[in-house]
Amino acid sequence: MIALLQDLLNTIFPTYCMGCGCMVPPNTILCLQCEHQLPKTNYHNSQRNPLFEMIQKLAPIQHATSLFFFERRGIVQALVHQLKYMGKDHLGDFFGAMLVKELIGSPFQNCDVVVPIPLHKKRQRKRGYNQVTAFGQQIAMQLRQEYIPNRLVRHKATRTLVQLNSDQRIAQMKGAFSVVCPTLFVGKHILLIDDVVTTGTTLSEAINCLLQIEGVRV
Ligand SMILES: [Zn+2]
Repeated sequence: MIALLQDLLNTIFPTYCMGCGCMVPPNTILCLQCEHQLPKTNYHNSQRNPLFEMIQKLAPIQHATSLFFFERRGIVQALVHQLKYMGKDHLGDFFGAMLVKELIGSPFQNCDVVVPIPLHKKRQRKRGYNQVTAFGQQIAMQLRQEYIPNRLVRHKATRTLVQLNSDQRIAQMKGAFSVVCPTLFVGKHILLIDDVVTTGTTLSEAINCLLQIEGVRV
């Protein structure tokens, strides 16, 4: 009976692949073919990967990884757009679960807490959510780490950094973050997460802010 009802619901409200638009089972984001085509970086397999090298120039870190390469007009760009601007924050669970599969058995598993890059409160109010929340919660839950939002805060509303050169970016982000209750993080190894990394300026400013706390590693 339940299966019949489910079939009926699927007929009335079919689910479509967010990559190619073909019909997929309920609660599925991508068809197997689109999932297979996702441009994974596999950066978690090598410590000195290009992302690590980029961030390391701006802030001293232990490890860095990203799940996908960002290809213009590719599936990842479409999904990130849905996540950030179309209210599809459940996509964060999908990305989080996918990343966790890669982090099991890697040094990232040994972190103590997961901290999201915060939005400025005005932007969060406008969007209604931080697009990194579901992603971070999923990672923290599956790695059995504590998820700590709202302690790293962003108190500078910054314009988009895309058109700025690297000195201007660094100047604009200077002092953009601070930590409420820094004692919470003393001696902790923090897994800091964000949705998209472009130049690493935002991440490195947040990292340098967290590294002011005694015994912190990021
Ligand atoms: Zn597809």
